[in-house]
Amino acid sequence: MFPAVLGEPFANKHTKLQMEGKVVKRLVAEGREALPNEYTALLAGWGSRITRHHPASPAGGDRHSFRWSGPELIEALACIGQEGHCWLGVLHTHPSTAAIPSSVDAANWHYPQLSYWILSFSGQTPVLRAYQWVDGSFFLRPYEILPG
Ligand SMILES: [Zn+2]
Repeated sequence: MFPAVLGEPFANKHTKLQMEGKVVKRLVAEGREALPNEYTALLAGWGSRITRHHPASPAGGDRHSFRWSGPELIEALACIGQEGHCWLGVLHTHPSTAAIPSSVDAANWHYPQLSYWILSFSGQTPVLRAYQWVDGSFFLRPYEILPG
């Protein structure tokens, strides 16, 4: 669909998925601000390293499920391309449930080569988990938070 910007963060088995600390901080802050609604962002960068996020507009209507409108997705991907980045993943929040993909999440995920992130606010502190879609199921993947 968007071959020019579509990255492959799991292409190299020996490279752990990475996210810059400043991106994690922004995702937690913006996800918390959106509560009690869900929040979602595209994640971009190079190789296996996420260096930038592109949030969906909060005016997008119903945020009880994580959803991108076609035009909004195309706009965010165009921005990723203009910045010379690749699209590496998608994050959404679970305001009141654990950081485990729901059956709806699984049914709506169409980019198995990308990373799938869930940020949960159900506990005392936010929990961020990364998954990879392999053969019809989500698998938990380790990741590293880079300083800065
Ligand atoms: Zn979900």
